[in-house]
Amino acid sequence: MSLRVKQANSSQSYQVVIIGGGPAGLSAGLYCSRSRFNTVLIEQGIIGGQITNAERVENYPGFPKGISGIELGRLIHEQATSYGLKTLLAEVTLVVPDRNRNVIKSSEGDFIAESVIIASGSQFRKLAVPGEDRYVGKGVSYCATCDAPLFKGKTVAVVGGGDSAVTEALYLSKFASSVKVIHRRSQLRASKIFEERATAEPNIEFIWDTVVTQIEGDGAVKQLRLKNTRNDRISILELAGVFVAIGSKPNSAQWRELLALDEEGYIVTDELMETKIPGVFAAGDVRHNSARQAITAAGDGATAAISAARFLSF
Ligand code: NAP
Repeated sequence: MSLRVKQANSSQSYQVVIIGGGPAGLSAGLYCSRSRFNTVLIEQGIIGGQITNAERVENYPGFPKGISGIELGRLIHEQATSYGLKTLLAEVTLVVPDRNRNVIKSSEGDFIAESVIIASGSQFRKLAVPGEDRYVGKGVSYCATCDAPLFKGKTVAVVGGGDSAVTEALYLSKFASSVKVIHRRSQLRASKIFEERATAEPNIEFIWDTVVTQIEGDGAVKQLRLKNTRNDRISILELAGVFVAIGSKPNSAQWRELLALDEEGYIVTDELMETKIPGVFAAGDVRHNSARQAITAAGDGATAAISAARFLSF
């Protein structure tokens, strides 16, 4: 996505440094800059974060006809920068906490911040079966919005049973001739509205109680080896592509030494987004107990910014 990013200078002191440019980080940036705090947001990938993979977001209030994830990210970024938020593309490698003088080390140099808001989000979970890594970009994908047109008129599979899997399947059904949703259980955990839509699509078929044990091909994906979890029967499914949509894991490796994480690696906060370190807050998908929705991430970001403002005023 080509968003114009207003470059901040590195080696500078800020009142607030926000790490991560998804809905949580951008909303925190909006609140901080409207409060006239000198704030920089550091993003290592795409402004908008994972929401940019969503073809259509239908449950973000204010957009009765839905909005594309890319456009939603662009609009929040525009809104936040219009109040003075600076954004920088860089990878944060370390935060060294020190009351009112936290050091944020990044690929673009060091930053000093009185307060830090971590909104580093999450990334796609992998199946971890043989063939997955080998065929990434050659039939294995984690983003239907990005890759669906490559599979026009072909058979593809989506692995998973949540909202991501079913929305990916719905999107793919516009391109592929046949979409098989492979789920390890006999019922979905996806929202009913998505399930109803997918069930009504003639070219979407569900394969229940089944796991993928291997992805096979010869230069590109050709087939999946499947196992039925009820009777252990092995079968082969010939196809051209497989979309893995089995949830996400937090981008929290760099906070492991610094903060309290839960057993899955999500950052533990209280309801004010406070971590165990005064002045360091966490918001959005990287946070323990996040509902992992764009709107709740945005709410977390606003709460974290208000908490940071309180911290800065003492
Ligand atoms: P999710 O809700 O955690 O679902 C993950 C699915 O993958 C589950 O069905 C799970 O099976 C399955 N799974 C996990 N590990 C697996 C493995 N190793 N092998 C096979 N299957 C595996 O994740 P998600 O669908 O990505 O959704 C994440 C959040 O984003 C949710 O809060 C969701 O509501 C939200 N979201 C919203 C929208 C929207 O448009 N509103 C779209 C996408 C996502 P089990 O059911 O057996 O655990």
